[in-house]
Amino acid sequence: MREEIVNLIKLQEIDRKISAIDKAKEEFPESLREAEQALAQKKKEYEALENEIEELQFKRRKFEEELEQEYQRLKKSQTRLMEVKAQREYQALLKEIEEIKKANKQREEELLQMMERIEALNKEKEKLQEEIAALEKRVAEEREKYEARRAELDKEREVIWREREAIAAKIPANLLKRYEFVKSRRNGVAVVPVNDAICDGCHMNIPPQLYNELQRDDRVYECPICQRIIFFKKAYADILPEEETPEEAH
Ligand SMILES: [Zn+2]
Repeated sequence: MREEIVNLIKLQEIDRKISAIDKAKEEFPESLREAEQALAQKKKEYEALENEIEELQFKRRKFEEELEQEYQRLKKSQTRLMEVKAQREYQALLKEIEEIKKANKQREEELLQMMERIEALNKEKEKLQEEIAALEKRVAEEREKYEARRAELDKEREVIWREREAIAAKIPANLLKRYEFVKSRRNGVAVVPVNDAICDGCHMNIPPQLYNELQRDDRVYECPICQRIIFFKKAYADILPEEETPEEAH
């Protein structure tokens, strides 16, 4: 049964590669995720900043209107000052004018502070815009890399898939069906070697009688415990894929 077993081993190795490709395709690159998150964060900051600026602008306009009204009031009082004859009234008006002037000075200072704050926020906004542009560029680059990688994996998969079809065509239909069946139930591993009477799939001892028969290689055998298709390891050492995790074998 050497040919069937050899083809099954090859098929399994191909299937392992295919599933590795599929897994790689599922992986979303951390660098892209990070860039996207950073961009979303900056956009949020930008939005908050825009709102803050807008509110301040609104407040500023209101403040300016109020100040304008106070200027008008001051003018009126000053005009009236020219017309007043009574000393007492004159003094009272003079006091009022002083108070308005004082209050306006304070308002002017506050307005100036507000304008300075708006200016500072606008500078911050410009800086954020630059950062956002840089991040958008990075996201686009990372996404492009990701798409290219996926396309590359698709191509690799296509090549391997053709190899699989060629091998599968050489395997008798019922054996192939059995392989697929066991594979689906045994986490992708349907064909395993037996060494020193131990099944490499379930790590259990197979009965001595079966172990003897297996070495004759006259038909396809299966492990009575895990139902995987088994073969005598020493007879196939030349075509077995290299052991993947030797440190696991204690
Ligand atoms: Zn087994």
